[in-house]
Amino acid sequence: MDARDLLENDLGHGQVDDLDIAPPLSLLSLLSQRSGIELDRLRCLSVVGWVPWLLDSLDDQVPAALDTYAFQFSVLLPRRTRKTRAINRWRAWLPSQLIRRACPLCLDGSAEQAILLAWKMPLMLSCPQHGCWLDSYWGVPGHYLGWENADPAPREASQAITAMDQRSWQALTMGYVELPRRRLHAGLWFRLLRSVLDELNTPLSYCGSDAGSIRYVWERCGHPLRAGKIRWHPFETLDLAVQL
Ligand SMILES: [Zn+2]
Repeated sequence: MDARDLLENDLGHGQVDDLDIAPPLSLLSLLSQRSGIELDRLRCLSVVGWVPWLLDSLDDQVPAALDTYAFQFSVLLPRRTRKTRAINRWRAWLPSQLIRRACPLCLDGSAEQAILLAWKMPLMLSCPQHGCWLDSYWGVPGHYLGWENADPAPREASQAITAMDQRSWQALTMGYVELPRRRLHAGLWFRLLRSVLDELNTPLSYCGSDAGSIRYVWERCGHPLRAGKIRWHPFETLDLAVQL
């Protein structure tokens, strides 16, 4: 019996779509009884277990949610130069399109081909364990799987990318980030990270005298300014290629 059959025919749960985000408590209780794994631990395997550290709420209708999350802190731009944004529906880090990325080395060595939840969000570019780029795949892991990239060799990520991703991984798994001079709470880390992304996504006409800094970062990264975007959209709704 595969996971889908088990869920539907044995546990009475017809849909697998909400398992990543917020599985019903009744299902988790049943899984906990059967497996002996504590309810809290099971809950942490879904995004709901990361509230309020990774995101404030799973409710996408909270007024000023984006403002509270991404405009509270300032890294590259002073707060006064940034225009606050109110949008109707928004949740931090949860992409509007499904992201199918995985580490070729992780999947290569594992018979189960488990896809990590963190790979499904635009949080990291590389595998924190192997330091290679996460690659796009198609198919159903565990059954059949192919890579979008024709060259199957894993690509090594730069030192800057692996350093940042290891910090995000530490935040997800330990609840804090060990920076060179201080330890930072995971909640603060993800909000700062999201603030930087929004700052880089700010149209230069709003940046005042700091426009040069934003332009400089994009130039040094070797990407077109604001990833070629003219209008502002929240990071979560951008195309995957633009997000990455
Ligand atoms: Zn890996």
